[in-house]
Amino acid sequence: MLKRGCLLSSTMEKIVAKLLVGNWKMNGVKLALQEADLIAAAAKTALGQSIQLAICPPATLLARLSEATAGTGLLTGAQDCHAKASGAHTGDISAAMVKDAGGHFVIVGHSERRADHGESSEMVRNKAQAALEAGLVPIVCVGETRAEREAGQAEAIVLSQVEGSVPETFPDGGLVIAYEPVWAIGTGLVPSAADVLAMHQAVHESLVSRFGAKGASIQILYGGSVNGQNAGDLLHLAHVDGALVGGASLTADGFLKILHAIQE
Ligand code: PEP
Repeated sequence: MLKRGCLLSSTMEKIVAKLLVGNWKMNGVKLALQEADLIAAAAKTALGQSIQLAICPPATLLARLSEATAGTGLLTGAQDCHAKASGAHTGDISAAMVKDAGGHFVIVGHSERRADHGESSEMVRNKAQAALEAGLVPIVCVGETRAEREAGQAEAIVLSQVEGSVPETFPDGGLVIAYEPVWAIGTGLVPSAADVLAMHQAVHESLVSRFGAKGASIQILYGGSVNGQNAGDLLHLAHVDGALVGGASLTADGFLKILHAIQE
């Protein structure tokens, strides 16, 4: 069992203590805004404890959710954006559209998009760049498959995704990384605390070596089957600066259980 006390992140290096982002994926119609209202009610108190909450709903709900939660402390974001600013790209949305809809974040390079839409790290980097240019904070997702972990390649794969997906320049605090092992997403499986710690440490070191002090300030979220039971242990590990949460963020009850676990 890892000792919590010696694993706390250094507050000297990171701007906000914890960032908790809900990714609703392709779930939710207008009725789901009621869940967001309940989450928003908790957001101000959380902010007082340096815990920032955010929800990334489906694109159809982003503007309504942003309007409904404005001023509450709950931030919003999109789950993807196109790399181009405008044009003939049927079905896509641009980073400027996300911004116009009130979004603060945009998730780029989620493993479901890398798998379902063939997104390479280069494409993800271009999307992150577009997000930065629109004044959004990209949440750049990286993570190994089960086969890659079993082959002992997890760290090499993740570091190469970080290298390929993170643009060369970004403002201080203006970019977030989410480490999400593909095999842990939606499966109820979670890596050991030692494995999460080792990967976050490796990602942090690679960012410091590439970007210096600015790299040290990049928040690194963990994602993959986070819930109220495991959040307390995972989110107190060094360089685990928050969580990207799928299934457990769909209800206020599930999401706030995670918040309460990290407030303890
Ligand atoms: C995700 O898809 O970003 C995610 C972490 O999903 P879940 O929490 O459901 O594993």
